[in-house]
Amino acid sequence: MKAITGNTYPVRAQIKALGGKWDSLSKAWLVPDDKEEQAKALVAKAVPQQQPLGDSNGQPTASGPCYTKLKNGAWGVRLPGTATVGQTISVVTKAGKTKSEVVEAVLWAGPDKLSGQPIALCSIKGGDPNVCKVCGHKATNKYGDVIYRSGECRDCFEERKMGY
Ligand SMILES: [Zn+2]
Repeated sequence: MKAITGNTYPVRAQIKALGGKWDSLSKAWLVPDDKEEQAKALVAKAVPQQQPLGDSNGQPTASGPCYTKLKNGAWGVRLPGTATVGQTISVVTKAGKTKSEVVEAVLWAGPDKLSGQPIALCSIKGGDPNVCKVCGHKATNKYGDVIYRSGECRDCFEERKMGY
């Protein structure tokens, strides 16, 4: 048997089909010697798993600017291309409303792990995590009065779900 390591997770079913066995001790797939080249080729072609960049929820990158939770819990914006401090960005909320945000700092810029397109992750002015991005309600974080990861307060979230 030969050990296959690397990004095996996306192709684990195919490796198994080659007669592979997961070895939890060495954290590697073991495949019959004559399947080694095939298994390595599968891993080489596998699409890497998306790694969360600077945000805590690791949501896939939308095509336009979108809100994202930063590691410090505040709201930030992820946008295609690059950003400059003080730039005003139009962000479309999950509820379909457009908000203007001002870039406070560019936290990260580089290629998106999935698309390879350049993206920038920014903190924004007034990115208070307890303020609803739709109606501006400031949540007390008591009795369910919280802001969801979508940036909405509970009322806005439920209104959107109900289709009001
Ligand atoms: Zn709201």
